[in-house]
Amino acid sequence: MPHDTASGSQAIASLTCRSCATPLQGPFCHACGIKAPRLPLTLPGMWQDFTERVLHVEKSLKRTVGHLCWQPQVVFKAFMQGQRLRYTHPLPFLVAIATLCVLLSHFYGDAYFDAYRVKLLQQVRGSLSPARSALYAQLNLWLSLSMPYWMLVFTLPSAGLLRLLFPKQGFTVAEAWAVGLYGIAMAMLLDLVVSGLGQWAQMPMLRLQIITDAMLLLISIAYYLAWLGFKPWTLLRVVAACLFGFALMNQLQEMIIYRIAAWLPGLQ
Ligand SMILES: [Zn+2]
Repeated sequence: MPHDTASGSQAIASLTCRSCATPLQGPFCHACGIKAPRLPLTLPGMWQDFTERVLHVEKSLKRTVGHLCWQPQVVFKAFMQGQRLRYTHPLPFLVAIATLCVLLSHFYGDAYFDAYRVKLLQQVRGSLSPARSALYAQLNLWLSLSMPYWMLVFTLPSAGLLRLLFPKQGFTVAEAWAVGLYGIAMAMLLDLVVSGLGQWAQMPMLRLQIITDAMLLLISIAYYLAWLGFKPWTLLRVVAACLFGFALMNQLQEMIIYRIAAWLPGLQ
């Protein structure tokens, strides 16, 4: 067993994977899949390693967005058949777009959030004390800022419902969820543009929110139809699953926040 020096260059001599210690048969480890790094560590080597990874992620993201625009069923099929290089996995895909949305939402004007706060305070004016109403509004505002990440869970009940409503199709909940995640991610991407335009045109916040909700719903339905095929009876079941799933999560989210605001001890 060769012993390590500070430079780590022994790894090349021993030809075992640095990550899992399996003997190497080529530039990639056949056990854990990692590419054998060039050792010793040099600045150009570090840069090359970095760009290879980033470029791969970037290329796959761009391809996924592009193909989801024009031929979403190709992306769904490739992912469900186990292809993992060509397109970004739906979970990291949604997380990447959600991060972009959260970053960009910091550019929204204060007027947008003030209007939303007023609406929220009106909702609970009769039932909660002023301090608890303020908490209720604040929790909702935080949630709406992190809403893009919340969409990860938000899409799950609809996927489960679809599985129940299409017992003969034989797909899994995870497969339906993958389609839902791709759909919601693309809807959020489109919403960035629409919300940007709406803010610029000083559209009232409520109307903007209705447009956003409608887009999330319509694009989800469209993607499920692209996946399952367009038939009247399919359309009906897809619409039912999406409407019911989304409404359920909306209610759940409102109820949980209301309960927290009403229960939190130490508030008047
Ligand atoms: Zn390995």
